[in-house]
Amino acid sequence: MWKKGNGNVKNILYITFFLIAVFLLAFIIFYKPKPTYSDKQMDVLGTIVRVRVSGEKVSSSTLLDIAEKEFQRLHNKFSANIEESVVNQLNEKRELIMDEESLFLIKSSINISKMTGDAFDPTLRPVLKLWGFDDVESPKQVPNSEELKKTLELVNYRYIEIEGNKVKLTKPGVKIDLGGIAKGYSVDMVIHRIKELDPKATGFIDAGGDIGIIGPKYGNLPWAIGIRDPFNTTQYTNIDIIYLYDGAIATSGDYERYFIENDKKYHHLIDPKTGYPANDAVSTTVIADDLMNADAFATAAFILGINNPSLDYFTNFGLQVFIIGKDKSTKETQGFDYFREKGR
Ligand code: ADP
Ligand code: MG
Repeated sequence: MWKKGNGNVKNILYITFFLIAVFLLAFIIFYKPKPTYSDKQMDVLGTIVRVRVSGEKVSSSTLLDIAEKEFQRLHNKFSANIEESVVNQLNEKRELIMDEESLFLIKSSINISKMTGDAFDPTLRPVLKLWGFDDVESPKQVPNSEELKKTLELVNYRYIEIEGNKVKLTKPGVKIDLGGIAKGYSVDMVIHRIKELDPKATGFIDAGGDIGIIGPKYGNLPWAIGIRDPFNTTQYTNIDIIYLYDGAIATSGDYERYFIENDKKYHHLIDPKTGYPANDAVSTTVIADDLMNADAFATAAFILGINNPSLDYFTNFGLQVFIIGKDKSTKETQGFDYFREKGR
């Protein structure tokens, strides 16, 4: 009896040790420390860009350096206010042979003009200039209405002619500005670079409230993104929270860049049909697979306004839209609500 009992205890001990060993081994093999995130702020693309990243193969600080270099490259290439930029070269020379990347960006902005019934227009620059919205430093003013009317004749993407890799501005005075699309595109490119080097890197890029996701938080959680309350002008508060594992979200608001003249507020989102700031929305948010489309369509949705029936049509391009009107009413496309669910 004793012996048998002793053997049983021994067996139980062996099994227990064995299980602990298996457990420890599994722990050593499968345990991954929680990623730690590194942040860097960069002053590019006319805004403060914040990159938060955690690399798996490549160190976070290397990824941040690469991100900064890539942002700088794109800024120098596409800012209309930089002498050597492709955009300025075209505006000056009127005709330019372009590389694939520049052609892609110009063609994309023309496509978005077509898809939004001219609400978005890359040839708005002469009008933006009259308002002083062409550059952060330009003095802002309400243009003379006659001058505005004349300048508006220069605004039409149909004055951009593309033949092979040659781009031509066909009317004297027409100038392009990719400010409505380049920020989103640049974030997409930086994310692409990071993922190329380290496919399992996670994090996000916040370019002045327009956000592209590098990868889910800690590899499996969504990032919570606040949509700013456009009616709270004294401080930053959220009106809504969106959860994203991937993709991108952009918001255009009348509070971003504006000036006040004779008690009236004038903001930077200009309706190409009138030449004046669009006034049928206070904030538009677009969720898309990439930030180039989210950014440009958020601007377009703002111009179209809350009462425009074509907004539902945006879902055909894989976009979800949320609009806040002047009277605080809201409107959204059918799939938008899905992104409010945290644990989906
Ligand atoms: P942000 O100021 O954060 O860039 P937006 O992306 O909404 O906000 O800004 C769009 C930019 O595009 C403006 O700063 C302006 O340069 C330009 N823009 C303004 N109105 C239009 C328009 N109707 N179509 C194309 N670009 C526009
Ligand atoms: Mg935008």
